[in-house]
Amino acid sequence: MTDAQAPARLERDALVDSFGRVASDLRVSVTDRCNFRCRYCMPPEGLPWLPKNEILSFEEIARITGVLVESGVRSLKVTGGEPLVRRDVPHLVRMLRALGDDLDISITTNGYLLADRAAELRDAGLDRVTVSCDSLIKHRFKDMTLRDALDEVLEGLRVSADLGLKPVKINTVVLKDVNEDEVVNFATLARETGYEVRFIEYMPLDAQDEWTAAGVVAGAEILERISGTYELVADTDDQPEPSTPFRFADGAPGRVGIIPSVSQPFCDSCNRLRLTADGALRACLFALEETDLRAPLRSGASDDDIAELARECVAAKWAGHRIGQPDFKKPARSMSMIGG
Ligand code: SAM
Repeated sequence: MTDAQAPARLERDALVDSFGRVASDLRVSVTDRCNFRCRYCMPPEGLPWLPKNEILSFEEIARITGVLVESGVRSLKVTGGEPLVRRDVPHLVRMLRALGDDLDISITTNGYLLADRAAELRDAGLDRVTVSCDSLIKHRFKDMTLRDALDEVLEGLRVSADLGLKPVKINTVVLKDVNEDEVVNFATLARETGYEVRFIEYMPLDAQDEWTAAGVVAGAEILERISGTYELVADTDDQPEPSTPFRFADGAPGRVGIIPSVSQPFCDSCNRLRLTADGALRACLFALEETDLRAPLRSGASDDDIAELARECVAAKWAGHRIGQPDFKKPARSMSMIGG
């Protein structure tokens, strides 16, 4: 080995559940706070925020993530709350990048602070961005997020694309009778910019407990609306992922996709794992149980201990969420507290 080569990574047993699914994608929440108040996520007054001492330090996040990478995780997504409201997130990205050049590192953000931070994030080792944006109409954007910030978000997208943080993805939650009339406009934006727009079905993860099945616009309906204007072709070259991407038959750039968590759950192929800002590991977005890693970490647990706790957490992952079933129970934490 030459000095220039990184030391070989320790290889631990993979994180496999009892149905044979392997956890390889980790969403790391860095804060439960957010500077938007999306109506399907958080009430206008906000939520009781976690006390600072309960939030993992960057060193703690990097240590846990390092053990999970040794256990086979290859994709890291920094999220929140709104990750960019936490100070010095590029520093965390640099620490995560030090875990391996082979890792796919991305961030999910509402985009409000992105234009200012994108260059620093890229230089720290970020590969790409996903920006949440639910409306391209200024007053509706404000109505949906309680923040008059569409211009800043579009600028964040543009700057990210210019810096090569690609593919630039947009997450759009589609709500019945609120923004469903905009799906074709979002597809047009994808064609004009090369962005990939992923339409997300509204899930029962709002803190306000206002979700109803009637508020969901099914993915199939969204695709049908877009197909009425643009002919779509499934892009089968991609690795399987929840959002089957579609390209435009006429060769225009950009893609669209659906994340049909409610109407067509993709639990059978789910490879995701989540670390909350306060150090709980969750094998499913809808899990009712989670594994606290912060307490063991702060009381001297070894990396082997952490790996074992993570393996146990994943091993106990259930077959799938129960949305729409009579026995469905909403998790105690809502989306912004888990990390989307
Ligand atoms: N603040 C960042 C952002 O806006 O992307 C990251 C956290 S946010 C909780 C992650 C994603 O969850 C966003 O795309 C948001 O729209 C989505 N989300 C929040 N509540 C949701 C719900 N009830 N159903 C579906 N998606 C939801």
